[in-house]
Amino acid sequence: MMSETRGNTDVVVLGAGIVGVSSAYAARQRGLSVILVDRREPGSETSYGNAGILSSGSIFPLNQPSLFGNLPKYLTNRHPALRWDFGWALKNPTWIAQFLASGRASQTRPRALALRGLINASLKLHRQWIVEAGAGERIRETGWLKAWRSDNLAAAKADQAALSEYGIKSELLDRQGISALEPNILPVYSVGLLHSETASVDSPGNVVKAYAQMFAGAGGDVRQAEIRSIAPDGDGWRVMLSNGAIHARHVVVALGPWAADLLRPLGYRVPLAWERGYHREFKPNASRQLRRPIHDAENAFLMTPMQQGIRVTSGVELTARDAPSCHAQLDQVVPLARSVVEFGEPVGEVWRGARPTLPDSLPMIGPAPRHKGLWLAFGNQHIGFTTGPATGDAIAAMIAGAAPSFDTSAFSPARYL
Ligand SMILES: Cc1cc2nc3c(=O)[nH]c(=O)nc-3n(C[C@H](O)[C@H](O)[C@H](O)COP(=O)(O)OP(=O)(O)OC[C@H]3O[C@@H](n4cnc5c(N)ncnc54)[C@H](O)[C@@H]3O)c2cc1C
Repeated sequence: MMSETRGNTDVVVLGAGIVGVSSAYAARQRGLSVILVDRREPGSETSYGNAGILSSGSIFPLNQPSLFGNLPKYLTNRHPALRWDFGWALKNPTWIAQFLASGRASQTRPRALALRGLINASLKLHRQWIVEAGAGERIRETGWLKAWRSDNLAAAKADQAALSEYGIKSELLDRQGISALEPNILPVYSVGLLHSETASVDSPGNVVKAYAQMFAGAGGDVRQAEIRSIAPDGDGWRVMLSNGAIHARHVVVALGPWAADLLRPLGYRVPLAWERGYHREFKPNASRQLRRPIHDAENAFLMTPMQQGIRVTSGVELTARDAPSCHAQLDQVVPLARSVVEFGEPVGEVWRGARPTLPDSLPMIGPAPRHKGLWLAFGNQHIGFTTGPATGDAIAAMIAGAAPSFDTSAFSPARYL
C-alpha cells in the first residue's frame, strides 16, 4: 500500500545496519521523532555477517606503513589477506592513490587518535545498550587473540608497543599461555597477543535486531521498504520509498556499502570503495569450543564462536561491490582453521559482505556540506560493528545541536565532498 507520511517527523534514518539503528535510537533518546527505513530486517547485511568483534585496538587501518612492505606479496593476488581486481583498480586509480597516500607514516598518529576516540565512545555505548536491549548474554568479555604460528615474538612485541602508545592494553603469550587461555585448540601457535579490553558477541545480526527493538520500544518507527531517492522538500526532505514517501526535517544516510548511490543525484561524488569479505560457519565440536575470537596473523583469517557455530571470516577482496563472488580466499583458509580447532560440517552457505571504506579509512560522520538537514554516517570499514553506536550517537547530537562525546573533526564529510 502506498502511503505518504508528512506530519512532523524530525528524522528519517536510511539503513538499519548497526550505524542506522544506532543513529535512530540515539536520536529517539534525545526526544526526536524518528523513522528508520530498510528494505530488509534490521541487521541483515554487513552488520549481520561480520566477525562480531568489539575491538578496542583497531586503530591502525589496512592502509598503514606496514602495507607498503606487504604490497609485493599482495600484488601476486594469492595471499589470503588481500586480493584485488585488476579491472576495478584500472577504473579507480584515484581511490587507490589516496588510499596508499593515507597509509604514510605521517598519517598514522592523527588517524589512530581519531579512531581511538570513536572506538572508546562506542565500546562504552555497546556495553550499556546491549544490557538495556536485553541481549547482555550475547557479549563475551574474553578479549581477542591474535596469534602467530612462527616464532615471531618481534611482531607481537611491535604490535603491543604500538597499541600501548595509545593506552590500549594487551598481553603477550607464549605457547603455554595460549593453551591455558584456549585449552581446546591444537598447539599450532608459538606467540600470541591478547587484546584484553576487546569484547565479542555471538550474533552481531541479533544484537542489531535487539537495538532496533529497543528503538521501537522507545517509540521509534521501523519501516521496511526500498529507498528510491531523496530530495530537498521545503524546510526538510522527501524520501521516496517503494511503498510511499516520507517527509522529515532531517535525513541520515546510513546505508553502509550502498551510501554513495543515493547521494550521487544530489551532486555528491563519494569516494567509497568496498573491502569485500566472506564468512562460512561450521558446526562446532561440543568438546572443542572456542572461548574468544582468534586472528591467525600470518594467514589473515578470523575464527569467532557464534550462536550457530564457528564463523571463519576471510581477508579483503578489493573489487566492485556487486562483482560475482570468488571463494578463493575462504577456500584457502578453511583448512588452516581446521588445523587450529576441530569443527564439523558447514552450517548454511558462504556469506559475502562489503566493508564500506573511504580512502583514509575514516568514516564520514557529520553534515553534508551543501544541504541543510542532510547527515552522513557511513564508511566504517573493518570496524563498523564496533563503531556504529558512537557514530549514530554523534549524528544524533549534531542534529540536536549538541556536542558529540568525542572529537569528530577528522570524520567531517567536507574532507572529500
Ligand atoms: C567479513 C567482515 C568481517 C567484519 N568483522 C568486523 C568485526 O569483527 N568488528 C567490527 O567492528 N566490524 C567488522 N566488520 C565491519 C562491519 O561489519 C561494517 O563496517 C558495518 O557492519 C557497517 O555497518 P553499516 O550500518 O554502515 O552497513 P550495513 O550493515 O550494510 O547497513 C546498511 C543497510 O542499508 C540498507 N540499504 C542499502 N540500500 C538500501 C536501499 N536502497 N533501500 C533500503 N535499504 C537499503 C541495507 O539493507 C543495510 O541493512 C566486518 C565486515 C566484514 C565484511
